[in-house]
Amino acid sequence: MKDKILLKENLVSFGNSLIEQYRLIAPVKSNGFSLYKPVGNASEICLDYLRPLKSAKEIFFPQNETLFFFNKKTQKIAEPAYDKKPTILFGAVACDLAGIAAQDRLFSAGAYLDSYYLKRRRNSILIGMACPEPGEMCFCGFFGIDRFASDIADLFFTPFSDKYYIKVNTEAGARLVESLPDAAAADAKTVERLRCENAEPKWDIPPLDELARMLAEGFEADVWDEIAQKCIGCAACTFVCPTCHCFDITDEAKGEIGRRVRTWDGCMFPKFTLHASGHNPRTKGGQRMRQRILHKFSYFKDNQGVVSCTGCGRCAEICPVNVDIREVLKQLGEACERKS
Ligand code: SF4
Ligand code: SF4
Repeated sequence: MKDKILLKENLVSFGNSLIEQYRLIAPVKSNGFSLYKPVGNASEICLDYLRPLKSAKEIFFPQNETLFFFNKKTQKIAEPAYDKKPTILFGAVACDLAGIAAQDRLFSAGAYLDSYYLKRRRNSILIGMACPEPGEMCFCGFFGIDRFASDIADLFFTPFSDKYYIKVNTEAGARLVESLPDAAAADAKTVERLRCENAEPKWDIPPLDELARMLAEGFEADVWDEIAQKCIGCAACTFVCPTCHCFDITDEAKGEIGRRVRTWDGCMFPKFTLHASGHNPRTKGGQRMRQRILHKFSYFKDNQGVVSCTGCGRCAEICPVNVDIREVLKQLGEACERKS
C-alpha cells in the first residue's frame, strides 16, 4: 500500500467526500475548547488544538446507552434503533488511538466480548493526526507512544508545509485515499526528520518496570492518604480518561414499559464499592486513589498485557484540586525510596 499526499487546501473537500458515505467525527471547537463531535460539513473541523478536552472513548462506549427496552407485562424485550452508517473518526491523536487500543483489548478480545462496543467499533475507520508538540500536562512519551504514528489507525496524517503525509496502514484506509497522489520518497524523509526533531523530553517519574515493584511494595504506604487528602471524589479524572471503563447498569421504568441503561461509573466516587449489605471496602480516599493508580499500572497490565494510561494528561488538567498523576507516581517512588 502506497502512502499518499493531500494538500491542506483540499482537506475540506476530502472531508466532505467522506461525509457522503460515513458519519464523520472529528475535533470541533466548542465554547473555546475542542471536542470530538459529529461533523455536518468538513469546514467545521478544527485541527488548531492540543488534543480534545474529552477523549474519543464515548464514540464506541457512550456515557449513557440503552441496552434494550422491556415490557414488564409481556416480558418481551426490544433492541434500540442503531444507526448502521459506518463511522470515521478523523483527527485522533496518538494517545487517543492508544486509548482505543486499550479499550479494544478489554471489550473486543479475550473471554468477555461486549456486543454493544463491538457493533460500533467494527463499523468504524480510524484516521490519526500527528501531534507535533505535547502540552504541559502530556507525558505520552513516557509510555513510548509515538506522536507521529499509530498501528491501530487505518490512515495516519502528518502535517508538513502545505500538505499532509498520509501513512496508509490498512486496505480500508487505502480505499479512502486511492484517488490522491502517491507520496514521494522525499516527503517520507521530511516526515521522518520532523519526528526526530521532536524527540520526547525526559520524565521525572520512576520507570515503568520500577513502578510495578513500587506499586506492589507501596500498597500499604501512607502516601496514598497523603495524596488523597485534597481529592473531593468528583471522578472527573475517570470520565475524561481514554481508558477508564467502569460502568453501572440500571433499569428505568414507567408503568409497564422500561429500559435497561448502561452508564459510566468511576472508582473515585465514594459509593462506587458500596455493597447492598451496607459494607464499603473503600471508605477512605486513599484506598480509592490507590485503586485507580494500581488498576492503571498493575491490574490492567496483569490482565491485558499493557498499562492503561496513555499519558494524555487529561486527568491532571480537569482535576479541580490539581491532583497530577505524574506527581502521584513521583510521590509513590519517593515514599518507596524512603522505606528501602
Ligand atoms: S478529578 Fe481530582 S478531585 Fe476529582 S476524583 Fe479525580 S483526583 Fe479527585
Ligand atoms: S490516567 Fe490520566 S493521563 Fe493516564 S490516560 Fe487516563 S486521563 Fe490520561
